[in-house]
Parts: sequence; C-alpha cells; structure tokens
Amino acid sequence: MAIMSDVYNVAAMSNDPIRDWILSEGKATEITRISSIGGGCINLANRYDTDAGSFFVKTNRSIGPSMFEGEALGLSAMYETRSIRVPRPLKVGALPTGGSYIIMEFIEFGVSRGSQSVLGRKLAEMHKAGKSEKGFGFDVDNTIGSTPQINTWASDWIEFYAEHRLGYQLKLARDQYGDSTIYERGQRLIKNMGPLFENVVIEPCLLHGDLWSGNISSDKNGDPVILDPACYYGHNEAEFGMSWCAGFGGHFTILR
Ligand code: ADP
Repeated sequence: MAIMSDVYNVAAMSNDPIRDWILSEGKATEITRISSIGGGCINLANRYDTDAGSFFVKTNRSIGPSMFEGEALGLSAMYETRSIRVPRPLKVGALPTGGSYIIMEFIEFGVSRGSQSVLGRKLAEMHKAGKSEKGFGFDVDNTIGSTPQINTWASDWIEFYAEHRLGYQLKLARDQYGDSTIYERGQRLIKNMGPLFENVVIEPCLLHGDLWSGNISSDKNGDPVILDPACYYGHNEAEFGMSWCAGFGGHFTILR
C-alpha cells in the first residue's frame, strides 16, 4: 500500500494540513470533534471525529516527517501480512511550524487485554507471512522510542545483530555516559556470539520491534492489536527481547 507522504514543500503548505487531508482524501465534509488521547511516550495524540468516521492523529512539534515515515512503513508492512490487527496508516506529512504528523485508522480499543494465546498465534502468523528477500534490516532506519534504530541490510543475522543492535546501543551508552566498562563487556559478547547460534536456521521475518505492554491492545471484538512499531526483518526470537515489560500471560506461546 502506498503511503502518501509527498507534501514536504513547506512553501506550498496550508496552515492545517491535517484538517485539509481529512476534508479531502479522508472524504469527510465536517470535523465534529477533536479530542486529546493520553498514553503516548513521545508524541501528541488526538482523535478526530468526522462524518466519515474517526481518525487517529499523532503530531510531533520538533521532528520532521522521517520518524512518522518509518512508523507508517512499518505499519504498512505489518498490515499487508493480513495477520494481526494494526492501524492502517493513511498519511504522513510536515507541519508548517516545522514538526510532522501521521494520520491513521482510529481503532476503538476493547476493555480487556484480549486472549494471550490468540496474540501469540497471530504474531507467529505475522512472522511467517512477513518474509524478506533483502536479508536482515528494513528499507529505512526508524526509531525505537526516540532512539534511532539502524536497519542497514545484512545477509547474516549475527553480523546484523552485532553491529546494528548490540554494537550500536553499546556505543550510545559509552558516548552518553562516558563509561567504557559495559562497552568492553559487550564487545566480548559480540566476539563470542557465533557459537550461540550454531546449527540454528535463522530466516529474516517481519518483527514489530518494540513489543512492550504499551504497544499491545485489543479491539472491541477482543482481537489483539499492536501499535507504534519499530519494524525490521530479523530473527523471530528477537521479538521477545522486550518481553520483560510486555506482560505476556501464561497462555502466550509462539510456535515456529
Ligand atoms: P507515542 O508515539 O507517543 O508513543 P502511541 O503510538 O503509543 O504514541 O499512541 C499513544 C496512545 O494513543 C496509545 O497508548 C493508544 O492508547 C492510543 N492509540 C494509538 N494508536 C491508536 C489508534 N490507531 N487508534 C486509537 N487509539 C490509538
């Protein structure tokens, strides 16, 4: 699915590109209510109610469209697997004040967290359906929280994980906190990682990439919904690096 993100020409921009999109491509003739939604970590979130249904809109006042572009590409990739429910991204663009926005399908969340076994099964379906011919990585770099996530393609998982995941985070920790102990220990781990993966067949598969409890919900029918991804193609078990704060229940199991 194409993401329309062509409106970067600030000179040609209206004062309210979100409203303009909703009242044109969004097929609404009237915005009846705009209400703020809490719960996000990085951006401002609003629900736009219109006579053509509701839209979910996130804005960021300082970061340009590249962050939301990465989110939209990730949502699209997951949406196209037709497995687990994710909001359909509709539009990304720049704000005249210098920030950016993303408009997506509004999902009415259910009251319960939904079934853990269905969540596990649907995630496995997404991992199986989302295959990559380019190896491990993603077409764009994106962000995990507000930290850049490097997705340069690599044909080997260990190489990708060593350089762009562990190695990158270790460098950030060293540069920001000035402590090289953890960096050096991490480098030792990187050098010795090979044997841990001996005889393991690793196929690149589409990962949500930031699967903590704040990004897992369920819709009105109780079907699982996942949000706010940091997608890339990786080893399926890397999805569970966040499981310490995902709150998976005892019925959550993932089968390959
Ligand atoms: P941030 O990028 O700031 O972390 P999130 O993507 O987590 O923001 O969204 C903030 C909150 O908005 C979420 O906790 C969730 O409750 C709600 N939300 C996210 N996506 C949707 C959506 N498509 N429809 C309705 N509500 C949503």
